[in-house]
Amino acid sequence: MQIPSPVDRVNHPVFEEAGITCFMKREDQIHPIISGNKWRKLKYNVAHLKRVKKRGFITFGGAFSNHLAASAFAAKKEGLQMVAVVRGDEQRANATLNFVQSCGAEVKRVSRQEYAKKEDDDFLAMLRRQYPNLEIIPEGGANVYGVRGCTEILHEVTQPFDVVACPMGSATTFAGLVLSGKHDVEFMGFPAIKGGNYLSGVVDNFVAQARTKPWLPASFIAPQWQLQTDYHFGGFGKISPQLVAFMNTFWAETNIPLDPIYTAKMMYGLIDLAKRRKFKSGTRLLVLHTGGLQGIKGMNVRLRKKNLELVYEEAISAAFTYPHF
Ligand SMILES: *Cc1c(COP(=O)(O)O)cnc(C)c1O
Repeated sequence: MQIPSPVDRVNHPVFEEAGITCFMKREDQIHPIISGNKWRKLKYNVAHLKRVKKRGFITFGGAFSNHLAASAFAAKKEGLQMVAVVRGDEQRANATLNFVQSCGAEVKRVSRQEYAKKEDDDFLAMLRRQYPNLEIIPEGGANVYGVRGCTEILHEVTQPFDVVACPMGSATTFAGLVLSGKHDVEFMGFPAIKGGNYLSGVVDNFVAQARTKPWLPASFIAPQWQLQTDYHFGGFGKISPQLVAFMNTFWAETNIPLDPIYTAKMMYGLIDLAKRRKFKSGTRLLVLHTGGLQGIKGMNVRLRKKNLELVYEEAISAAFTYPHF
């Protein structure tokens, strides 16, 4: 477990031409499995369920979910029981779910229709009756405990920065960054989904919730923030040959492996914005590598069917040799 996570300089020709200094907070290096923002989001969730004396937790995710992998590993490490409610019955086995099970988590597969009810009161009440000793953690650790963990990320950075960029799924991580008390910095979120504008309401909601919590200083001033909603590549989990080529080139140029769902789309967007001179010359950019590299192996299985491949699977695979216990 590597906390604080390192900060690396990103030397990229486009940034250099545009007069941008770029640093990357390598949350992917916190741990090969409990990587990136998933560790941050679990921290206060685990503390909470211990405080209320629950034996473990139920949580939710897709078949390749970084959150399920991280949660299962954390549960094993903390001696907690875990039930993973997994969407979709089409995906029988893959590296991520095998790992979740190898950590001792119970995998409960539900249909897409049933999964869609994961936030309904009836469905949650049924789960609570079935598992009275377990707490429920929402998909992606998307609650105010998750947000709190992410407020700590920027406090570890000693380099100066003007703009912070972060990919967005549930907006929990982004909300945590916005709430970290850096009011003179601009925050830029990159939704990994199509139609990501609604996430600004989610951020507002998290900020409002945080204002009721004792951990947020009363002096908190909300910073400037904006969403870049045009870099979803067709929708969540959609991967084009162009994106794969970008990732392989980025690896060749910087030696930094990106994940295809989140960080690659953000980096593509940032480089595109820099090419279009959307940043002032002299801007000091800080980008968050939120992790997700555990999914590369499974993703390559899918990509090879289309004659595509992320070339750095081998280079990063040593870190993912299970088990890690
Ligand atoms: C889960 C995840 C995200 C999304 O984080 P949110 O807090 O849900 O917005 C971003 N990047 C990676 C690699 C992830 O696994």
